[in-house]
Amino acid sequence: MNQVIKVWDYLEELQIEKDEVMKLIEKVLFSGRLIFGESLLSFERSLSEYIGLKYGIGVDNATNATMLSLKALNIGENDEVITVPNTAVPTVSAIISAGAKPVFVDIDPETYLMDTSQVRKAITDKTKAIVPVHLYGQSVDMDPIIAIAKEFNLKISEDCAQSHGAEYKGKKAGSFSDCSTFSFYPTKPLGGFGDAGMILTNNAETNDKLRRLRFYGMDKVYYAEEHGYNSRVDELHAAILDFKLKKLDENNNKRREIATRYNGILKDSGLKLPVEKEYNKHVYYLYVVAHPERDRILDELKKENILLNVSYPFPIHTMRGYSHLGYKQGDFPVTEKLSNEIFSLPMYPYLSEESQTRVCNVLKSIIG
Ligand SMILES: *Cc1c(COP(=O)(O)O)cnc(C)c1O
Repeated sequence: MNQVIKVWDYLEELQIEKDEVMKLIEKVLFSGRLIFGESLLSFERSLSEYIGLKYGIGVDNATNATMLSLKALNIGENDEVITVPNTAVPTVSAIISAGAKPVFVDIDPETYLMDTSQVRKAITDKTKAIVPVHLYGQSVDMDPIIAIAKEFNLKISEDCAQSHGAEYKGKKAGSFSDCSTFSFYPTKPLGGFGDAGMILTNNAETNDKLRRLRFYGMDKVYYAEEHGYNSRVDELHAAILDFKLKKLDENNNKRREIATRYNGILKDSGLKLPVEKEYNKHVYYLYVVAHPERDRILDELKKENILLNVSYPFPIHTMRGYSHLGYKQGDFPVTEKLSNEIFSLPMYPYLSEESQTRVCNVLKSIIG
């Protein structure tokens, strides 16, 4: 039987970085400081500098990063937050955890990202914020969103969980708004060996507030200024992520090369391939293709030991867990149609050319 090809794998990368990673682990463990030490401060500095913002606040994951970002922007009870139904569940669960109500707009049929022309009609007198999601490694068209936010006095918190290093008009995704939130879940473009997240902001007050909120509401130990949470990154993960950040551009370039290769081989395959808008630098967290016979194709690939993934098969507004939001099937036709057609091809920096070729050949023979 053919070797298994997965949509994502990290073991080869770890093999290459093993000595450096092990040294870092040893250094942190013997430093005598495991929580809130130099490694986290350093990583907060490095990522905020890399994206181009003043402050970075490390937290336990990106779901809580978005929840805390909304709280820090004073968004909660009775407020509405506009986002998309084609996203990871955590985007929406974070909005609800902050106490607010998610309001959806459909996606653009070309990029599969927020259709910015629909934002205006979703605004009510309760709307307080927009959470654009830079899905798959590409940036949402930010200029129209920034203009609408200004006009209606709305906050923006960018969901950058999939877009570390992506650019919009030459500036990094995550540098355009009040807050931006990052995930370092293992599969992400900047991924660790466990869970972690970060919020970036340019606002000193928001930074202070977020540092309190992630630390039981305390500015100094044992005294809570306000109700807070426990949401932090341990030194071990911070040190590893700080190291991984130095490899991010190189790894994103590898992803882009793999994407270019897919584009070439699959150009006449009958698959709808990803588009890279002129304003974007896509970092291909996922290489997402579409075909009306998606389920048959995935079944056939499985028989060949090629195990792919769909991001995402269920639009959020159709999930039982979110039925209380009051949406119904048919409300977001572009998202609904795509959820039946899209799937992701293997994509990670150390994906071999050989595996890539095999996937493409099998795909072409299945589609016929
Ligand atoms: C992964 C992801 C999140 C959540 O990140 P966690 O660190 O797992 O909480 C949020 N939004 C999007 C778009 C994601 O892909």
